[in-house]
Amino acid sequence: MASSTSIQSRHVAVIGAGAAGLVAARELRREGHSVVVFERQKQVGGTWIYTDRVESDPLSVDPTRIVVHSSVYGSLRTNLPRECMGFRDFPFAIRSGESRDQRRFPSHGEVLAYLRDFSKEFGIEELIRFETTVVRVSTAEKESENGESNPQRRRIKFIGMRFTMQLLFAMDIT
Ligand SMILES: Cc1cc2nc3c(=O)[nH]c(=O)nc-3n(C[C@H](O)[C@H](O)[C@H](O)COP(=O)(O)OP(=O)(O)OC[C@H]3O[C@@H](n4cnc5c(N)ncnc54)[C@H](O)[C@@H]3O)c2cc1C
Repeated sequence: MASSTSIQSRHVAVIGAGAAGLVAARELRREGHSVVVFERQKQVGGTWIYTDRVESDPLSVDPTRIVVHSSVYGSLRTNLPRECMGFRDFPFAIRSGESRDQRRFPSHGEVLAYLRDFSKEFGIEELIRFETTVVRVSTAEKESENGESNPQRRRIKFIGMRFTMQLLFAMDIT
């Protein structure tokens, strides 16, 4: 990976605060970019956030159905040993505590706890806009200072919805 001194700092958006989004956000910030993460749920963890709710239309035909993002079920344990699942510089180590699962193939709750630990350790939560769903991503030409369009520079437009505030926002990432 190139050193941060050779990289031009950008405004960068990451969609989703699951395992992939969390580590992407950390790496992008490490490289000197200004990062914002859009996450439609209220917390980090993505598919590891367990809920006993099920979708109202199991065949996913009805577009108005209630969508449940996770397919994790109550008794699920990992199908990989914890030492294969952690990020290289933040191992999925056994932690003590009442709610922690110290097994080598732990429960889904332990994976969620690990991802929360990761997020806390690297201060990722402060980058996240929770309850914010990205509904559209598109390119748009950037205007130059004299107001003319400049096809050399493209910007990406993120349109999202914040459910709590019922606010539609648009964000330009150059
Ligand atoms: C049942 C099951 C068991 C698994 N077991 C293992 C295992 O044992 N070991 C293993 O290594 N892997 C396992 N996996 C794989 C698992 O998918 C990965 O470990 C990892 O959690 C995937 O992370 P992710 O960030 O790619 O996706 P996700 O965890 O799905 O995260 C995506 C995030 O993006 C958010 N999002 C999506 N669209 C939008 C939008 N438009 N706007 C805003 N936010 C959005 C979602 O809310 C979510 O938080 C399992 C998966 C499942 C389903």
